Amino acid sequence: MRAKGRERATHQTNKIPCGTSVLKIAPVPYHMPFMCGRWDCENCEKRKTDKCLKDFTASFTAPYSHVSRQPAPTTMKEINRLKNFLDMKIPGSYYTYRDDNEVIIISKTAHPGSKRIKTTTILNTIIPKILSNDWSGKPHTNRSTHSRNIEPIKNDNIKSINQNPTYATWVGPIKMEKVAEQEFKSLTDDPERARWLSRNDLDGNLNLSMRGKELIEQYQSQTCSEPRQEVIEKVLTKLSKAISLSEEEILLYANEGK
Ligand SMILES: [Zn+2]
Repeated sequence: MRAKGRERATHQTNKIPCGTSVLKIAPVPYHMPFMCGRWDCENCEKRKTDKCLKDFTASFTAPYSHVSRQPAPTTMKEINRLKNFLDMKIPGSYYTYRDDNEVIIISKTAHPGSKRIKTTTILNTIIPKILSNDWSGKPHTNRSTHSRNIEPIKNDNIKSINQNPTYATWVGPIKMEKVAEQEFKSLTDDPERARWLSRNDLDGNLNLSMRGKELIEQYQSQTCSEPRQEVIEKVLTKLSKAISLSEEEILLYANEGK
């Protein structure tokens, strides 16, 4: 997908328009379009539906499959009843898809209440239709489930991620993005990267990924002393103005333990 213009003023995650190009902080920083991942976003609905179809195609290769429909469960009791039905009554592989009103169950072999339908019809009509219907649940919810024996296709190339792990997304001022990119690129070891991530996270410039958080944790002892000292100095300056004592007098006072 083509990245949209970069006209946004601030860069807070929830305000970044879907499709905007964002800076990913990695040993080799890179740009990619930000995806909001919401079902009520036209771009993301299409992308998520395509992913569902791709996953389904990968495991449902027979010319016919078996389809049944149930009302969407709302209470805990109904949710458990559906779960039991899936666990007990469906032999082998299945997928489910849901909208506000119903759940469609698709299995490889016949199950109670199911109809035998061409797999191409399911792919071209049934799944796209239900996923385009109204969805008032949480916007990021997974609207498809599958049996345990199915492994959905992985989106990411694991090898390339390991070579260039992404630690964060830049959500700070857009005019500082280029500097941030150059700065991070110039860092050569993990302790330095952890310090840089920690500092920019404190400044609210980053959305850390799990890997970013892990890296900071790993070098916590080295990263926390620097910002802490900065904070102490800031507080001291403010305090000294507020109570009209010099910073030395405040420190003296603190050390006397009065
Ligand atoms: Zn989106």
